[in-house]
Amino acid sequence: MAEVVLSGVGKIYPDGFQAVTDLNLHIADGEFLVLVGPSGCGKTTALRMVAGLEEISTGEIRIGDRVVNRVPARDRDVAMVFQSYALYPHLSVRDNIGFGLSLRKVPKDEIRRKVEQAADLLGLRDHLDRKPRHLSGGQRQRVAMGRAIVRQPQAFLMDEPLSNLDAKLRVQMRAEIARIQRDLGVTTIYVTHDQTEAMTLGDRVAVMKRGVLQQIAPPQELYDRPANLFVAGFIGSPAMNLLKGTLAEEDGRLLLRFRGGQTLTLPQEVLQHRPALRSYVNRPVIAGIRPEDMEDAALSGGPEHARLTAVADLVEAMGSDVLVHFSVDAEQVVTEDTRELARDVGADVPEGPGAAGTTMVARFSPRTRIKVGDQVAAQVDTGRVHFFDPDTGASIW
Ligand code: ATP
Repeated sequence: MAEVVLSGVGKIYPDGFQAVTDLNLHIADGEFLVLVGPSGCGKTTALRMVAGLEEISTGEIRIGDRVVNRVPARDRDVAMVFQSYALYPHLSVRDNIGFGLSLRKVPKDEIRRKVEQAADLLGLRDHLDRKPRHLSGGQRQRVAMGRAIVRQPQAFLMDEPLSNLDAKLRVQMRAEIARIQRDLGVTTIYVTHDQTEAMTLGDRVAVMKRGVLQQIAPPQELYDRPANLFVAGFIGSPAMNLLKGTLAEEDGRLLLRFRGGQTLTLPQEVLQHRPALRSYVNRPVIAGIRPEDMEDAALSGGPEHARLTAVADLVEAMGSDVLVHFSVDAEQVVTEDTRELARDVGADVPEGPGAAGTTMVARFSPRTRIKVGDQVAAQVDTGRVHFFDPDTGASIW
C-alpha cells in the first residue's frame, strides 16, 4: 500500500490535444479517491498515466516512495480494473483470478490460497470451477476484481468498472467495492462519470472539467460548498437550480430579487457564512437552490418572504418524493458550463438569455397534493441558497 502523488501532471497527445493540465493530487495511503467529470474531461487519461499506460507530458507521478515517470506499467505494482472485464473465456474462474500470479511464477499452493481468500471476499467460492460464460455480469466483474486483489498491489486503479452492469447490480456492486476496499485498505483511484457513484464511494472526490481539476473534497463538502458553478451543477440530482438575480439591502434586510419581481429575504447568517457576498449588494449574482432545499409551503408553512410561487408544469411522483417543475420569471443562467452539463445529460438548453424564465425543480415530500396546473408555493430554505459570481462562475464565500 502506498500514497499516490501527482505533481503538475499534464498530457498533450501527439496530435497536440491537451487532455490534462497541471493536475495536482495527493492520494493518501489507503484512501479511496474518485475522479469524476463529464465525458472527455481527461479522467481516463489521468488514470492511465498513473498506470503507466500513457506517457506523461509534464510533471511527476509518485507511487509510495518511487517516482514512476519512467517505470513501465508492469513494474508499477498497481492493479487496474476496467469496464470490460477482459476475462479469458477458456479459463476457469480460479485460473482467471490466479492468472497474474502464475505468470509471475508464484508457487501453486500460494496461488491456491490467495485465490480462495479472494473468492471468499468476493462471494465466488462456489463458482471457482466455472467458465466466465456461465457467470452473470456481476460475477464476471467480481472475477476481474479478484484478479486485482490477489496481486496485493500498492494501489487499485479502476476505470468505470460498473458501467456494463444494469442499474440494480451496479448499486449492489458499488456497495461491495466500498466494502472490499475498506477491508483491504488499498489506496484506490476510481474513475467514473456518474456523480452518485462518486459521492457514495469516495473518501474524497476530484471533479474535472476539460482536463482541469475543479475541486477536490469529501463528498459532503462538494455538495455543501461547491467551488464553482460547474461543480454545483454536476454534483446533486436533480441538479441545483440556477437563477440570475440581484442582491439588495433594505431596512437592514438582505434581499434576493428576480427579474419578474419575486423576492427572497435572506437570513443574516448568510453574510456570516459568505462575507464576500456583501460586496455584491446592488449587483447581479447567480443564485443556486437545490431541489431538496424547497418544500411545499402548503405542508411546511414558513414565512412568505422565503417563497417562490409559480404554476406547476410537471409533477413526477418518485415514490419517496415528488419532483415538481415550475417556471420562475428570472433570467436563465446559460453559461458554457451549464450548456456542457445539459449536453451531458441530454437536456435542452435555451439559446440566449431566457425569455420564458427559468425552469426549476423542487423535491417535495410525497404528501404534497400539487398537480399539474396548480399554483405552487415553494418554501425555500434561504439559509442554504448558494451564490456565484456571474462573470467567473466562482462561488462567493
Ligand atoms: P470518457 O468518460 O468519455 O472516457 P474521459 O474523461 O475519461 O472521458 P479521456 O478518455 O481521458 O476522457 O479523454 C480526454 C480527452 O482526450 C478527450 O477529448 C479525448 O478525445 C482526448 N484523447 C484521448 N485519447 C487521445 C489520443 N490518443 N489522441 C488524441 N486525443 C485523445
